[in-house]
Amino acid sequence: MENNLEPLFGQIEAREPSLAQRFGRRAFIVSAATAVSAAAFWGLRRSTIAAARPMSADEGPKTVTIVEFSADGKQIGIVTVARVIKTDDEWKKQLSPTSYRVTRHADTELPFTGATWNEHGRGLFRCICCDLALFRSDTKFDSGTGWPSFWQPIAEENVVKTVDGSLMVVRTAVSCRLCDAHLGHVFDDGPQPTGLRYCMNSASLRFVKIP
Ligand SMILES: [Zn+2]
Repeated sequence: MENNLEPLFGQIEAREPSLAQRFGRRAFIVSAATAVSAAAFWGLRRSTIAAARPMSADEGPKTVTIVEFSADGKQIGIVTVARVIKTDDEWKKQLSPTSYRVTRHADTELPFTGATWNEHGRGLFRCICCDLALFRSDTKFDSGTGWPSFWQPIAEENVVKTVDGSLMVVRTAVSCRLCDAHLGHVFDDGPQPTGLRYCMNSASLRFVKIP
C-alpha cells in the first residue's frame, strides 16, 4: 500500500505544494495508509468533482442578497446589493499574504495561527475582504483543531456552500456571499443544536467586539 501512496503524494505535491510540505511525505503516507485503503484513495483520485475556487471577476451574479448586521450585532435587514468584485491585484494589495492566499486562492492556513482561532470575546466575525458579518461569538466552540469553529453562520444568506473535490476527498467549501472569499469548510461532526462544524480560517475573518 505504501508503494501506491508514494505517487499519490507526488501528485499532491504537484497540485498543492504548500499542503504537501505541511504534511511531509512520510507523515502523509503513514496516516493515509492507516486511515483508509489505497484503493479508496485511488478511486477518489479519479473523481471528476472539481475543486471549489473563488470566482474570477467576470463570473457569477452581479448582485447578491445578504443580511446586514449593526455594530452591536443586531440584524438590520435583508438587502440586495452589488457583489463586491475586485481584480486579483486589488485583493493582493488590500490583504495580508496569508489572507490573500486563503480567501482568493482557497488555500488553508496553518492551524493555531492568526488572530481569530483563539478569540473568546463577545462579538461578530466579519469577512476580512468585504466586512460582511459571517459568524457570532455565541456559536463559536473549541473544536481542538486550531481553526475558528462555529456551529452555524450568522445568517444562511451570508455564506455559500460549494462541493469541493480538491485533495482527493469531497468536502463542502464555505465562501462569503458578498465577495466570494474562501472561508473554510463545513463538516457534519459539530456540536448540537446543528451538529455542524464550520471550520474556518483565522485569516478569512476579522473579529469585531460588541461594545
Ligand atoms: Zn466577503
